[in-house]
Amino acid sequence: MNVYICTDLEGVCGVFRWEQTREYGTPANVEARRLLMGEVNAAVAGAFDAGAARVVVRDGHNGAKSFLPEELDERAEMIMGLTSRYDDVTKEGFDAAILLGYHAMSHTQGGVLCHTQSSVGWNNYWINDRLAGEIAQSAIMLGAQGIPVVMVTGDDKTCAEARDWLGDGVVTVEVKKGLSREGALMLAPKKARALIREGAREAVANAPVAAPFRPEFPLRIRWQYKDSLVVDRYRGEAEVIDPYTIERLVADPADILAP
Ligand SMILES: [Zn+2]
Repeated sequence: MNVYICTDLEGVCGVFRWEQTREYGTPANVEARRLLMGEVNAAVAGAFDAGAARVVVRDGHNGAKSFLPEELDERAEMIMGLTSRYDDVTKEGFDAAILLGYHAMSHTQGGVLCHTQSSVGWNNYWINDRLAGEIAQSAIMLGAQGIPVVMVTGDDKTCAEARDWLGDGVVTVEVKKGLSREGALMLAPKKARALIREGAREAVANAPVAAPFRPEFPLRIRWQYKDSLVVDRYRGEAEVIDPYTIERLVADPADILAP
């Protein structure tokens, strides 16, 4: 059993303000990344508790430079840096994926640091007329490679969004309750890590019966930006819906993020 863990920063316990996630290298950002590493290691431990042979963790937050390498559990491997999400590593064969530290889609009421892809540039994103966020995007891209998402962690809205898209079979670990976009009722980080370890153990143990998320392609994807300049300058195949919005049919799962 090989396990692939995709990470983000906004959904980690103790992370609740943009200062922690947007500004790189500040004390607030380093604190957030240390909290991330604690949750990464908890998920790694849970996966090995369940008998995983190999665990690879992907740094998924802005620029993929958020891990503190020295802190990684030595049984795991990590992917950092600017790579395609369809890098050769996922092709090495994984049986289950965990989405760790994820956040709810754009404009989720009370969703801590909620956004879809870019909290600065993107407004909304739809898949076949259904509002979607990064959980659906990750699940589709992993699913296309035959890898089921077996667990999602983040705030309560993130967990609800995960069950909404992936069904009640997905293990969700709620590490905080969103009170606003920059405020949360949170567990102690140590408690969050204990729940994540237990959740990962259960999720990986049940992975053999989990199904990859595989909606039928082509998908009709709609991107809505915050600045009409993005659409003004766009020269691709997509149809312009309004000054902020473009839409196109996407046939290849690797193309669902970019028009
Ligand atoms: Zn992020």
